[in-house]
Amino acid sequence: MPFDEPSLAPRPKPRVRDDRSPAERLVDLRVRIDKAATSARRDCADVTLIAVSKTHPADAIEPLLAAGQRDFGENRVQEAEAKWPVLRERYPNTRLHLIGQLQSNKARDAVRLADAIHVVDRPSLVTALARAMEQEDRRPDCFIQVNIGDEPQKGGCAIADLPELLTQARDAALPVAGLMCLPPASLEAAPYFALLAKLARDHGLAGLSMGMSDDYDTAVTLGSTHVRVGSALFGHRA
Ligand SMILES: *Cc1c(COP(=O)(O)O)cnc(C)c1O
Repeated sequence: MPFDEPSLAPRPKPRVRDDRSPAERLVDLRVRIDKAATSARRDCADVTLIAVSKTHPADAIEPLLAAGQRDFGENRVQEAEAKWPVLRERYPNTRLHLIGQLQSNKARDAVRLADAIHVVDRPSLVTALARAMEQEDRRPDCFIQVNIGDEPQKGGCAIADLPELLTQARDAALPVAGLMCLPPASLEAAPYFALLAKLARDHGLAGLSMGMSDDYDTAVTLGSTHVRVGSALFGHRA
């Protein structure tokens, strides 16, 4: 076998010691997002940076709020309900993005809490969210999550099921803002981002929730409108 077979796997990044605070990292991150947007002839105002604060306590979040960050991502409804009411009282224009898999029986809590829900991925959840929005008279933006790498362990609808799910969501009057994906962890993300961007274009959707700590600038060059960045801001999660 040849030894120079090109590998699709990204090279492991060296772990550099990083003593900067989250607020300092935020400044650098914004610069990198601006650069990526500029290189793709995009307006950086069209890219929302979601600071993924899951597992981090309010004490760790507050400095980012003080530094002007307003969009935050949480994985679990219960955790967000415990952490955010107090922070939001102090910073009323904060927007919360729910990015972790959502059970239908939590739909009402999610609708009450979140300003955007990035994990709409099946008919039963569309139905539950539509009912919850009716009951709460509140309509958070919805992103349809696509299982872009066709991975059995991941959430997201199959690419083949996207047209039908989108039709259902639109018929149910969900405010569908765009598509979301989590590419396979061990592969180069760019082809998956490009595929999600194509699907969004095909369906006339403007929003693209894609890109995390290791690949947010690639995602921005490929059209991401919402990057979800956790560890590059807060450091590694316990
Ligand atoms: C945790 C999480 C992120 C952030 O991941 P990092 O690699 O820490 O930036 C983004 N999106 C989703 C869906 C997540 O669960």
